Amino acid sequence: MALTSLWHDRHPREEPEPPAVAGDWDVVVVGAGLTGLTTAALAARAGRSVLVLEGRHVGAGTTGGSTAKVSLVQGTRYSRISRRHPTSVLREYADANAEGLAWIVRFCEDHGVGYQRRPAYTYATTPAGAKSVRAELDALHKAGLEQAEWVDEVPLPYPTTGAVRMDDQAQLDPMELLEALAAHAREHGAVIAEGVRVRGVQGHGPSRVVTDAGDAGAATVVVATNMPILDRGAFFARAEPTRSYGLAFRASGRLVDGMYLSADGPTRSLRDAPEDLLLVGGEGHKVGADTSERGHLDRLRAWTAEHFPGTEETHAWSAQDYVPHHALPYAGPLLPGLGGILVAGGYSKWGLTNGVAAALALSGRMLEGHQPWAAAYRPWSSRELTGIPDALRINANVAVEMTSGWVHRLATRDDPPVCTHLGGVLRWNDAEESWDCPLHGSRFRPDGAVLEGPATCPLRNKTG
Ligand SMILES: Cc1cc2nc3c(=O)[nH]c(=O)nc-3n(C[C@H](O)[C@H](O)[C@H](O)COP(=O)(O)OP(=O)(O)OC[C@H]3O[C@@H](n4cnc5c(N)ncnc54)[C@H](O)[C@@H]3O)c2cc1C
Repeated sequence: MALTSLWHDRHPREEPEPPAVAGDWDVVVVGAGLTGLTTAALAARAGRSVLVLEGRHVGAGTTGGSTAKVSLVQGTRYSRISRRHPTSVLREYADANAEGLAWIVRFCEDHGVGYQRRPAYTYATTPAGAKSVRAELDALHKAGLEQAEWVDEVPLPYPTTGAVRMDDQAQLDPMELLEALAAHAREHGAVIAEGVRVRGVQGHGPSRVVTDAGDAGAATVVVATNMPILDRGAFFARAEPTRSYGLAFRASGRLVDGMYLSADGPTRSLRDAPEDLLLVGGEGHKVGADTSERGHLDRLRAWTAEHFPGTEETHAWSAQDYVPHHALPYAGPLLPGLGGILVAGGYSKWGLTNGVAAALALSGRMLEGHQPWAAAYRPWSSRELTGIPDALRINANVAVEMTSGWVHRLATRDDPPVCTHLGGVLRWNDAEESWDCPLHGSRFRPDGAVLEGPATCPLRNKTG
């Protein structure tokens, strides 16, 4: 069964034959999602020569599978950051996201990209959930977002125990945004090469970007592949890859008047989309978990049938994002002090505002601009140390996962394939018919081709 997001269906794109890659460039961007294309547009607009290398097609990654809420209300993210970092950092994070939101809205208005203003809610369905939503409200206020308010009555068709609400947030079609960004970058001279998977980067400023279609020289390389594909810097060990699901339903009229995310489990995300569609998201889990992906989709369907009866399913899909242990996204050098290779990611499913903020921070570095809030995104600050206990715990789990996968593989004859990144034993994803790695989230097609990194090489015993 092929799962296709609403946005991919509305903007079908082929994975083209790779063009030849050559030449020397000021900036080579790897990955044509929101982070990569925003960075490319900003650098091209400033007169830099820019080459974007995309392994599949524009928007093939997480951006094209996003629910695309462009919001400062982000579930319980602010309280999570607040538990680990000082208020000054929390404020920088809020400022960065506010700038990301304002930038997207401005870009949409200037380039005719559709978007809708909606209130955003984080809501609770239990007394314990209400307590964590109250804590979120405190964190939002501490972050300087005084407009966030408490509401007792939440306009949803099932019982709730209160919510935080903020007006004037936005929602859009992420593929429409990416296509406009790609066109804008091209107008300013950027070259976007799709179907070109980057296998590695040699040196660090100037560097050689290595692909099967040839190599390109770059003064600066921006790795915008969501999870960085380069192992130097070990970013794969800093974040947990999580996969979650989206469904679209046709309804008679608009069933929700805002963008909603539950604080209690199981997580449920709601928004509307033009042409009377209801989008329902949730059922997140670690990539390659020992559960049925079809089962996750079915639970989301059953929940929707219970709470929004009479709707008709039009699309089902899945996508993944990375949740960093120290709770903050990163945008900066791959290794401390080396500005020739920059990376960005770790958006914890809030990559619309954060992806643009990261792109602004990276282009600020390249173009000598200055955003005071960018300090919160530095990948090598001492704050990173606050994530070490969690990183150790999660990497201990990765080691257990690695061992149990191999014990299973050696003890049985089903012989699942092995990830070409760091040798994890892959698990079959029964909804998307892919091989998924429980260690760091790489995914492969049945023919062995890479779907998602950090792996860059196809499975060895398959032919693609
Ligand atoms: C189900 C779901 C719902 C979400 N909903 C929201 C939401 O409502 N609001 C919000 O703010 N955020 C949301 N997010 C998060 C957000 O969508 C992402 O954080 C964001 O889109 C990441 O953008 P990106 O450009 O960094 O990565 P991507 O969009 O993944 O782009 C990376 C690109 O790099 C390419 N690539 C990878 N490896 C290589 C290689 N070796 N060579 C060349 N190219 C390569 C990929 O093909 C891909 O196109 C959601 C995430 C999920 C999973």
